[in-house]
Amino acid sequence: MAKNTKKTDAPVAQAPRGGLFTYAPAPESPAAAGDIATSYGHFIGGEFVDSSGSEALKTVNPATEQVLAEFAQGTGEDVDRAVAAARKAFADWSALPGSERAKYLFRIARIVQERSRELAVLESIDNGKPIRETRDFDVPMVAAWFFYYAGWADKLDYAGYGPNPRPVGVAAQVIPWNFPLMMLAWKIAPALATGNTVVLKPAETTPLTALRFAEICRQAGLPKGVVNIVTGDGRTGAALTAHPDVDKVAFTGSTPVGRSIARQLAGTRTKLSLELGGKAANIVFDDAPIDQAVEGIVNGIFFNQGHVCCAGSRLLVQESVQDEFLEALKRRMSTLRVGDPLDKNTDIGAINSSAQLSRITELTDAGEAEGAERWSPSCDLPGTGYWFRPTLFTGVSQAHRIAREEIFGPVLSVLTFRTPAEAVEKANNTPYGLSAGIWTEKGSRILWTASRLKAGVVWANTFNKFDPASPFGGYKESGYGREGGRHGLEAYLDV
Ligand code: NAD
Repeated sequence: MAKNTKKTDAPVAQAPRGGLFTYAPAPESPAAAGDIATSYGHFIGGEFVDSSGSEALKTVNPATEQVLAEFAQGTGEDVDRAVAAARKAFADWSALPGSERAKYLFRIARIVQERSRELAVLESIDNGKPIRETRDFDVPMVAAWFFYYAGWADKLDYAGYGPNPRPVGVAAQVIPWNFPLMMLAWKIAPALATGNTVVLKPAETTPLTALRFAEICRQAGLPKGVVNIVTGDGRTGAALTAHPDVDKVAFTGSTPVGRSIARQLAGTRTKLSLELGGKAANIVFDDAPIDQAVEGIVNGIFFNQGHVCCAGSRLLVQESVQDEFLEALKRRMSTLRVGDPLDKNTDIGAINSSAQLSRITELTDAGEAEGAERWSPSCDLPGTGYWFRPTLFTGVSQAHRIAREEIFGPVLSVLTFRTPAEAVEKANNTPYGLSAGIWTEKGSRILWTASRLKAGVVWANTFNKFDPASPFGGYKESGYGREGGRHGLEAYLDV
């Protein structure tokens, strides 16, 4: 399997791997993921059912390349069945008092908490992300999202959308592979709280936690047909988003696919929200506390292997502190532990798929070919699986592909600036507009800069902070509509 086998030089003073201390392996047990079936069908009308077609896809553990399970490639007929089940369930579900719907969401949230270890391990196995992240971030976020929207279900009259706001109807929801269960929660929790029913399609490389979530819906006694899960690749997604009987499409994924869905739905009455790609700037001013900013930059780009739509993939550092900052950054990068996602010490796990690894490799090769200087800490990579070293490019110009295109991997492109105005101009010089970060000690500079950045979310002296009460979404080619918070209700209300 193609891997990032480039030789790396390590010119900076290297800290011992793992800092002053070395870490003994601390593996989580894969058995904690519970039983994984050899093959899965869909979840339609409250039942696990076979596909009408015979095509099956495989999901693999990206850290070992072992096949975990087969699952159905959803056909047009499967999508019809799922939409019909959601339509049938809609009348009763939307007629329930909000306080009754809330009980189901609270129940789901509590079951997610009770089964959190199982879900975290299953997510790490299917996605490749470190257990530390699934355990401490993804799964707690999933529970928090259901708790939060459970709280809204009986207060919709006070959400600012007029008295007695009505649900839209049947929601078609298509999600990517980078935060499989969390993206599911971002979509399903507000839809259900507002009285909609849903058909959700997980990504083709990470279907397992969505299918496990279907079990949780049954365990919570959720009425049949309120949540339906149909698996498959982009063909199934396209059949779902184009279905004539869905009232709302919510899509998270790449900008080209988002664009094609927007074209498909133009001129129809179907409501659409799009959460797409990003190329965020993380701006470090010369007065920023260096160590704190280094932690933020590392978190901004290496969290979740850089498979993060709002990742801080462009570092803009003020020229006067460039040398000192990059020295500290390289030292910190040298302590990142890459390897087994189930080891509790791992910082960077496996790349989600061989296709994604190829894309990262192609773009980083282009970075070198275009003249940028590449650096990675020396670190051993496992022999099987899909891996990529944390990588930093200096000497990057704004015209380079690595400065313009979303790499969606652990790769940071470094650019410099001299004045705040130049920083803002460079930060905004992208077709995307999802997020940005600012590092400075001056509050006035934070406000000056933030008000000029064209990004849906701007973090100051922190990065990648999420809260269910806080809306998230993009500008420009990063999409439209907001998820999270009171604003997130609007996508599922007929307003
Ligand atoms: P992708 O667009 O290829 O796939 C996303 C989902 O869409 C998958 O479930 C896929 O099967 C489905 N799909 C593919 N073609 C389709 C079609 N024609 N019609 C309907 N559905 C289709 O993207 P990806 O590679 O899985 O995910 C990575 C992208 O997602 C990145 O660009 C990233 O920035 C973006 N993303 C954005 C956010 C956000 O909130 N803005 C969050 C996570 C990921």
